[in-house]
Order: sequence, then structure tokens, then C-alpha cells
Amino acid sequence: MRGGTLYQRKAAAARVRHRAPQPATYSRETIFARWGYACCYCDARAEHLDHVVPISKGGADAEHNLVPSCAACNLDKGAQLLADWAPIRPPSL
Ligand SMILES: [Zn+2]
Repeated sequence: MRGGTLYQRKAAAARVRHRAPQPATYSRETIFARWGYACCYCDARAEHLDHVVPISKGGADAEHNLVPSCAACNLDKGAQLLADWAPIRPPSL
């Protein structure tokens, strides 16, 4: 939007920020099928979809941020970033 008073422009920006969440546009079945219904973390049978970057940390509720996971991995990871939950360690010798 161009023009308008500063108040009008701020009000328009606020409407964008506070817009209601959009309905999911991804298919759970498509994501599960892509990964062979296996948990991407431990290979057990996947029952949940995990947000790789948690929504609470700014992740999107979108297909590119979702992977199938088993209940145990999803509940254990919770709202942690992958790097915090499963830090990469050098292999032990
Ligand atoms: Zn798992």
C-alpha cells in the first residue's frame, strides 16, 4: 500500500501481522509416504509430524518444515531446535 497517513499505514501493517493462521496446505499422508512411514530420526514407525524448526522458534507450519517422527522422538525433542536436541558429536574412537 502506498500513500495514506502514517496511522493508516501502521494499521494496515498491524492487520498483516495479526492475521489469523492460515489452514494447513500440506498433506500429512504425502509427507509420511515420502519418508516410507518411518521416523526420520530413528527409523521406527512414524506416528507424528515434527516441526524441524519449532513454531515457537519461528518455524513454519508448512511442508518444508515437517518430517515424520515416532511419538518417542517427537515428544522428546519437543520445542527444541534439532541442533540442541541432537547435537552433532565427533565420532568416538
Ligand atoms: Zn523416532
